[in-house]
Amino acid sequence: MKSLVIDRKDLKNNVKIIKKLSNVNIPDDQGNKLKIIAVVKGNGYGLGLVEYTKFLIDQGLDFFAVSTVEEALELRKNGIKEKIIMLSSTAIKSEVEKLIENEIVLTIGSEEAGNVAEKIAKKLNKKIPIHLKIDTGFGRYGFLYNEIDTLIEYIKSWNNLKIEGTFSHFSIAFYKKDEYTKKQFDRFIDCIEKLQKNKIKTGMLHICNSSAFIKFPSMHLNAVRVGSALLGRLAIPNKTGLKKIGYLKSNVSEIKDLPKGYNIGYSNSFKTKKETKVAIIPCGYADGFNVKVDRDMFRPIDKLRYIVRDTKDALKKQQLEVEINGQKCKILGRIGMYNVVADITGKDININDEAKFNVSPMYVDSTIRREFV
Ligand SMILES: *Cc1c(COP(=O)(O)O)cnc(C)c1O
Repeated sequence: MKSLVIDRKDLKNNVKIIKKLSNVNIPDDQGNKLKIIAVVKGNGYGLGLVEYTKFLIDQGLDFFAVSTVEEALELRKNGIKEKIIMLSSTAIKSEVEKLIENEIVLTIGSEEAGNVAEKIAKKLNKKIPIHLKIDTGFGRYGFLYNEIDTLIEYIKSWNNLKIEGTFSHFSIAFYKKDEYTKKQFDRFIDCIEKLQKNKIKTGMLHICNSSAFIKFPSMHLNAVRVGSALLGRLAIPNKTGLKKIGYLKSNVSEIKDLPKGYNIGYSNSFKTKKETKVAIIPCGYADGFNVKVDRDMFRPIDKLRYIVRDTKDALKKQQLEVEINGQKCKILGRIGMYNVVADITGKDININDEAKFNVSPMYVDSTIRREFV
């Protein structure tokens, strides 16, 4: 049976590196020193929401971020008492009620979201902790950076919301050109200055995701929100020593000999060049193997670069591999949804031997067992 294996030692080391890289800045206006906000959305980037979060708590992390109400409630249901922020702003009353009930820090990114929270807080006669979200050019959640004057008016009407933080999100921090990221940062700082000039306490300031965290130490402010860096799976070159977390473990289920000139897999795109001993292993793209999804983030010029790269790869016949019993084996033919065929000619490999696939945990079906070793 397959499992997604997570190496505790490597993960522990990644946390250590991230702590070291956190640029300890001046405390925020409420006395908090730089915080690492561990982003555990998307089933903990595939590592398993609850177990992964508990692991991070054991490593001394104490502030977590999720993207959905479901994730927030799941953490609380499993006894996690640490601070949790829901990164998406919502103006849906039933959702805001659930979040408040479970002491989840709200993100407020619109007048409506603020009004809904204010109304509920007033009814409860409570001060509710929130983080303000500024949209500095992402076009998603947040108050537009050039409409801060209206935000100031809203804030004055929200007497039951306590601003514990203010943040923004970069859209292209992974890109090798920095202009847009710097522009977003400057817009954010301008907004903060305007708010503070109007005697509004902005709380802890944060804007960095993993790529920006690594690339721009000067932008760390009071907190950083790191997700993919914890898994050592960054969209930028990684020279930090962060290790890639997660591989898919499967086992050789059958072995057979195929004659020369025999087809392997869908589309008949591969034929054996000689008599070939093969191992058949249950693992395919439904398990996240060889799933590539990062490309639609890029600009047309990058798409063009990708086409060039893909063509080069095809010419080089870039070979996918699987490690069986510590031996690298070539994968033959197209990858199936649930199965691959590996060339084990001349190798000492037997049925049930362990096969390791490099996968991105995020794309591994959540029904597959997560195994912390
Ligand atoms: C997902 C997310 C992050 C973390 O991004 P990484 O690049 O994985 O570190 C930070 N902030 C927000 C608002 C997010 O949605």
